[in-house]
Amino acid sequence: MALTGIQIFKLLPKTNCKECGVPTCLAFAMNLASGKAELDSCPYVSDEARAQLSEASAPPIRPVVVGAGVRKATTGGETVQYRHEKTFYSPTLLAAQVGSDISAGDLEAKLKDWNAYQFERVGLNLRPELVAVKDVNGDAAAFAAVAKQIADTSEFNVILMTEDADVMKAGAEACAFKRPLLFGATEANADAMGAIAKDNDLPLGIKADSIDALTALSEKLTGMGLKDLVLDPGSREPKQANEDMIAIRRAALKDGNRAVGFPTIAFPCEMASNLDAETMLAAMFVAKYGSIVVMSDFAGESVFPLLLERLNIFTDPQRPMTVTEGIYPINNPDENSRVLVTTNFALTYFIVSGEIEASKVPTWLLIKDSEGLSVLTAWAAGKFAGDDVGMFVKKSGITDKIKHQEIVIPGYAAAIVGDVEEELPGWTITVGPREAAHIPGFLRA
Ligand code: SF4
Repeated sequence: MALTGIQIFKLLPKTNCKECGVPTCLAFAMNLASGKAELDSCPYVSDEARAQLSEASAPPIRPVVVGAGVRKATTGGETVQYRHEKTFYSPTLLAAQVGSDISAGDLEAKLKDWNAYQFERVGLNLRPELVAVKDVNGDAAAFAAVAKQIADTSEFNVILMTEDADVMKAGAEACAFKRPLLFGATEANADAMGAIAKDNDLPLGIKADSIDALTALSEKLTGMGLKDLVLDPGSREPKQANEDMIAIRRAALKDGNRAVGFPTIAFPCEMASNLDAETMLAAMFVAKYGSIVVMSDFAGESVFPLLLERLNIFTDPQRPMTVTEGIYPINNPDENSRVLVTTNFALTYFIVSGEIEASKVPTWLLIKDSEGLSVLTAWAAGKFAGDDVGMFVKKSGITDKIKHQEIVIPGYAAAIVGDVEEELPGWTITVGPREAAHIPGFLRA
């Protein structure tokens, strides 16, 4: 069971040397208890205390690294059942499946298509990460060739799917440098699959036909010294699969059951007969609690909504996404260009700046720190008050860049005009549109 901060503190050296980056051992203990610090950050923990603390401070769901290179990703590591309790840390990884009999040309075309599914939102690059190679005929050479082509020619990382240990060995050797997830350890092949994963230091997906059987298999493999497992309870009927995902998460977090304290994998591709239905099931697993979701294919209309859902669910609800306060020149503005001011909520910034860019009108965009709140919320919370905005405009340095005295404030903050005018005597304060979509027309007019 997890230790409290005070219990952890009792095991620390209590010298307050600050080498761990916080001022006191007590603060470090609290951070350790809440999962915000790593035990290795303190170099002075005794071996005896380390043994006690390592076990107690390990996250209830082990973080497992899948892949290598630019798309390397950590899955698992979650500490709460519900997002609002704290946050979810490791976004669900999205995979599409190919058969091991796919031709090199067809695979090349698929990889090219799938690689194009990249979307910029709030300053982030959203894209799927994985391709799963499914052994369809026991041909180890073909399986290895497909895995190697994906690993060598794309940024996608790889899931190797077979229950045949010889085929798995060939696949693992072909793309071990990409740290593939080996999927297919069952009760029948656990020894052989466990050995391949252990010899190559690779994560291993394990599958059983019930949570009890999965628990036994997990205990067997961890007993062999394997640490990085990914769990598949084997359910392929949506309702049962959903219940199993919830049960596994609860058992790991609420009951402290270490045998199921690993990320999970779900297979919408084996539960539905078309991509639309798969997409709905994938959406369910993104929300609860699929760490990796495997689909039969990627298409823009399926992957884009899933990426956006994932972005929303795996964003810290207590920390709004923000951009830095400052002056943002858009479309090469000069001293005569208009000045718009808005808040630093990331979504506000990206929508407003996108509309300004689309207008092609040279503009200075001033972003005021509103603690990540949108315009209306910031105004209601007193974070976008007239005098604040006026002071910010004066201090921002924009007056060195323009030779007029006019700013445009958001339509939803029209009520602050008077206070801004008081703070900026002699300036013209214009109320802009309420909706960002109207900004291009407003600027051109
Ligand atoms: Fe205490 Fe260790 Fe941090 Fe030093 S490094 S303050 S001993 S927890």
